[in-house]
Amino acid sequence: NTPLHELDPDVAAAVDAELHRQQSTLEMIASENFAPVAVMEAQGSVLTNKYAEGYPGRRYYGGCEYVDVTEQLAIDRVKELFGAEYANVQPHSGASANQAALFALAKPGDTILGLDLAHGGHLTHGMRLNFSGKQFNVVAYHVDDAGLVDMAEVERLAKEHRPKVIIAGWSAYPRQLDFAEFRRIADEVEAYLWVDMAHFAGLVAAGLHPNPVEHADVVTSTTHKTLGGPRGGIILAKKDFAKKLNSSVFPGFQGGPLEHVIAAKAVSFKVAASEEFKERQRRTVEGARILAERLTAADAREAGVNVLSGGTDVHLILVDLRESELDGQQAEDRLHEVGITVNRNAVPNDPRPPMVTSGLRIGTPALATRGFTAEDFAEVADVIAQALKPSYDADALKARVTALAEKHPLYPGLSK
Ligand code: PLP
Repeated sequence: NTPLHELDPDVAAAVDAELHRQQSTLEMIASENFAPVAVMEAQGSVLTNKYAEGYPGRRYYGGCEYVDVTEQLAIDRVKELFGAEYANVQPHSGASANQAALFALAKPGDTILGLDLAHGGHLTHGMRLNFSGKQFNVVAYHVDDAGLVDMAEVERLAKEHRPKVIIAGWSAYPRQLDFAEFRRIADEVEAYLWVDMAHFAGLVAAGLHPNPVEHADVVTSTTHKTLGGPRGGIILAKKDFAKKLNSSVFPGFQGGPLEHVIAAKAVSFKVAASEEFKERQRRTVEGARILAERLTAADAREAGVNVLSGGTDVHLILVDLRESELDGQQAEDRLHEVGITVNRNAVPNDPRPPMVTSGLRIGTPALATRGFTAEDFAEVADVIAQALKPSYDADALKARVTALAEKHPLYPGLSK
């Protein structure tokens, strides 16, 4: 029962340093968030010790009576949250959920149609080095010159290639998808429609984004992005797919479920059904709009900064730096220097290599969780706009970042 600080001071020191980093800087990676303390408590609980292969009520191990309670709570809550007929809460991550979903809907060699990685898609939607790209015949659709998913191209490619599965979803796209239109196209070519809502699930839960569950055969998600829970994945579906999906997750791809994480998912779904969560998601979207407005102002344009698609409907913006003197890497470093964490991101038809890129992806979920208001988002948007100019005062900008971080303390009870 030796505490971490005594048993392993090296790991403890790194954990403490990471807490300090999260507290003292501004986290604007669009896929990150801060899990509530209660979620981390469940995730750090004795449930980590339990083997529970199988599903609630049908396990291959004894002693599952309590993890059955937490897993069933997670299933019931997430079904209610999204209006789903079926839920599987066992996938270890978003990528695992996607793997299980894809293999339940199609077999190796079948054709899948997804958004190109370089245009905002995810690795698991058909990237060449990913299982999806290696084992399936991938056809990719793209965004048009306005930065919007080209639905005419989706329809043309669907008719030409007759995919088994059409994938709607993204990792870097600032607008909402037209799920009804995807459904119409899928029906026309007799394809399954799979929506990956990993990024925008929190907005859906809050009623701020169309709900893909109404249109798709299968919906996958992560639980740790806008949804704000522990790292993990889920699969939702029409009940006809229940058997196939359950057996694809276990025993298809996974062994014992992470019951401590599943308990933490249950807690996060309870939080996601609350008014406080809805209010937070509203500030998330408002913050992204404020960022987009600030970075499309005349002085930002003069510095070669553009916002893809001209704005946002979600929790992130994509900054196009092709006309800036900074590339994506330099801009990421510049913001890091003033205490803001973002990730560089390829823009469509990016002239630079993926390790450099010509863009940034900037998201607001973590700061909204921290309590940022419209006024705070306006301040951070101005700091970013100033930092991306050819001449900037790093110390002054850093001081403004520190003031914002201090105004909204993060995990105050966890500090040593
Ligand atoms: N799907 C989408 C759309 C994502 O953006 C991501 C993560 O970035 C994933 C799936 C994968 O999630 P994970 O990193 O938990 O495997």
